[in-house]
Amino acid sequence: MERGFKAWCERFSVAKRKELQIPASGPIDPWKLAENQGVAVWTPNEVVGLSPEKIDILLRNDGTPSCWSAVTLMAGTKIAVILNSSHPRGRQANDLTHELAHRVLDHTPQEMNVTPDGIMMLKSYDKTQEEEADWLSSCLLLPRDALLSIRRRRLELAEAAKEYGVSQKMLSYRLARSGVDRQLGFVR
Ligand SMILES: [Zn+2]
Repeated sequence: MERGFKAWCERFSVAKRKELQIPASGPIDPWKLAENQGVAVWTPNEVVGLSPEKIDILLRNDGTPSCWSAVTLMAGTKIAVILNSSHPRGRQANDLTHELAHRVLDHTPQEMNVTPDGIMMLKSYDKTQEEEADWLSSCLLLPRDALLSIRRRRLELAEAAKEYGVSQKMLSYRLARSGVDRQLGFVR
């Protein structure tokens, strides 16, 4: 990741919370964030303007139907993320934020599928872009202020993960990698 990228992600996360009038340490609703970014969020059944056959083709192209998580579609300037609604809400939140992060960072995928009527499905980003999207989405869901608040309130990991709508794995990762635990003396 480029120098300064991580600091930029923290700043972006702070700025977005301000814009959405969410407290600096508060949880963000990825569905509200999508709305703010002008991105529609659909389940496969809600996709407007695509026949079930086409949806089927798009989703099948992205792997087996049960394991795909999220795909981003673009038609002209319109952008939509389709989430696999069979997954738990927390996973959908992670996947949605990850897809939004790719758009915020204006990533161009290595591969796109295009339907005859010009709807593009974005897929296969390179490794660096995936790492950047993961980092930005984890900062959006758990900015430093949120991590500090979690530790100061002495929340259990499970409790905090629930409050912020993230997995415990992501929370542990952020506590370790953001430097917050070191700052508070949880690790030496
Ligand atoms: Zn990705």
